[in-house]
Amino acid sequence: MAVRNIVKEGDEVLRKKCRPVEKFDQHLWTLLDDMAETMHQAGGVGLAAPQVGIIRRVVVIDVGEGVIELINPKIIMKAGEQISAEGCLSCPGEYGITSRPMYVTVKAQDRYGNEFTKEGKELLAKAFCHELDHLDGVIFKDIVQRMLRPEELE
Ligand code: ZN
Repeated sequence: MAVRNIVKEGDEVLRKKCRPVEKFDQHLWTLLDDMAETMHQAGGVGLAAPQVGIIRRVVVIDVGEGVIELINPKIIMKAGEQISAEGCLSCPGEYGITSRPMYVTVKAQDRYGNEFTKEGKELLAKAFCHELDHLDGVIFKDIVQRMLRPEELE
């Protein structure tokens, strides 16, 4: 495993529409392991492949309940609303208020290509939305209601 460099806002790789994963092989597993290590080392709760320069539909999330690996994920249900502060490892030190669904269910493949569904609420629902947006070239600042001023940050 290795920590990879996190791409920052302004790099055009963050604006690409990612391609689906077709091969569930060692190359993918190394990417997933590296992404999890990179996310943990950076203190984040999620990381999408374009954030390490890979234009593929791969996401890792860990909201404190273990690493969730999502390959070719799709949102199949969302409900409710949460208004809260949100940030991104590609936009260090910047936070904004977003509206996200309170409940989100995703359908995805695991690292072996097996399909599964996973329900999330609160932070996990927000992480699903945030990370899946990255796969379509969207960052949270595109949908933010307003950015927080420095004096509003704790
Ligand atoms: Zn992000």
